[in-house]
Amino acid sequence: MKSLDELTFDNRFARLGDAFSTEVLPQPIENPQLVVASPSAMALLDLDPASAHTQVFAELFSGHKLWNEAEPRAMVYSGHQFGSYNPRLGDGRGLLLGEVYNDAGEHWDLHLKGAGQTPWSRMGDGRAVLRSSIREFLASEALHALGIPTSRALSVVGSTTPVWREKQERAAMVLRLAHSHIRFGSFEYFYYTRQHDELKILGEYVLANHYPHCLEQPEPWLAMYREIVERNAELIAKWQAYGFCHGVMNTDNMSILGITFDFGPFAFLDDFDAQFICNHSDGQGRYSFSNQVPIGQWNLSALAQAWSPFISVEALRESLGLFLPLYQAHYLDLMRRRLGLTTAEEADKELIEQLLQRMQGSKIDYNLFFRHLGEQPVDQALASLREDFLDIRAFDGWADLYKARVARDGGNAEERRARMHAVNPLYVLRNYLAQKAIDAAEDGNYEEVRRLHQVLSTPFEEQPGMAAYAERPPEWGKHLEISCSS
Ligand code: AMP
Ligand code: MG
Repeated sequence: MKSLDELTFDNRFARLGDAFSTEVLPQPIENPQLVVASPSAMALLDLDPASAHTQVFAELFSGHKLWNEAEPRAMVYSGHQFGSYNPRLGDGRGLLLGEVYNDAGEHWDLHLKGAGQTPWSRMGDGRAVLRSSIREFLASEALHALGIPTSRALSVVGSTTPVWREKQERAAMVLRLAHSHIRFGSFEYFYYTRQHDELKILGEYVLANHYPHCLEQPEPWLAMYREIVERNAELIAKWQAYGFCHGVMNTDNMSILGITFDFGPFAFLDDFDAQFICNHSDGQGRYSFSNQVPIGQWNLSALAQAWSPFISVEALRESLGLFLPLYQAHYLDLMRRRLGLTTAEEADKELIEQLLQRMQGSKIDYNLFFRHLGEQPVDQALASLREDFLDIRAFDGWADLYKARVARDGGNAEERRARMHAVNPLYVLRNYLAQKAIDAAEDGNYEEVRRLHQVLSTPFEEQPGMAAYAERPPEWGKHLEISCSS
């Protein structure tokens, strides 16, 4: 274990120079106070979790103090927002403080979000409010606990600094960890400004540091692109299988590492709804739940465009063509597991589609359905679920197919239960749970955020005294409107 002042820095990205990022110092927020910290994220830096409760910690992660070796920089990028190209975005309120490597030799970017204005702030104040900081923290750590690749969150530090959104709020900072903060949009920036030398330098940097195995391939850029397609297919399959809506899949929010990145008005589905739109500002539903799949592919085509100086169009097209079949394969595999199946049959795709069709419009809690389906015996589990379906006969038809399928799959009932419970979470980061924790935190009480974080860090295990977190949301809790303002 290390103390906070023992972190070892190696700022590789900063060494790329001023074409890629600009030196900016964080602007501190007043009266910093720890809201919540993640012990498992701290462990990634070999930090003692107890140090989160020190004054130094709050000062380091609110811009008051800086390590001597830190080199805070705002990264430049552009990107497609809701399908339209925005030539200049960049870190308008987040800073890459530096890169730390741990005892295992892994590099982690320390990114402080809400650190004040930068040359790319445009009209923004460079701040993040407590509400959105807590949401990003909880989402990162909850997705990680579900086994979904994501940036991590080390801490949220709150303050008394006022910030104006729709109303007056308080500023906070999240310390985000990722192996890299390079986005699709980082490449688009150099491509569309015709800075192809810098574009090449950035690609070679990503190859060397994040996809070194691709350097052994005859066409390293192509190998890397292909792997990014594969990683995104798997990532989005996981989002779909677990009912996660990102909400703002702009290309500046797409990580070059294929991890969930930049959390805005995200949501986990409560009731299943393929057309669900979690972002109140997304009137057209571009990023609706089911659209995330084609949008993932669209974003990859935007990256292909930016890399077209280095890879042939034919090879890019062929690689992009892998996205949908790979997505389908991962999705089927995950859904089979959620249904407790250990074997694969041709008709499983149909079985899954039919289930979702029956859920649609029936107000079926998506994640709890699978959790309850894992109870034994299967007849009893189905009997307790059927009442909730609008078209009970249609559900019964599906249930017969499912029972027959489970019988063909074979195996022992107790094992099936354990297997299903290990992949079907009991606790999910529902918007209303986050909102209750945020309301308390805005009143200065951080217990609820900390408890919710704790519950979500082992989502598959039933935890004593936490039954309230596993319930269906109240009606008000299903209709929260989450805007982009953060
Ligand atoms: P986001 O919606 O957080 O992905 O941000 C989109 C772009 O807007 C990025 O370039 C951000 O840095 C910038 N941005 C968002 N909020 C602010 C803010 N409060 N102040 C300055 N820039 C911001
Ligand atoms: Mg963003």
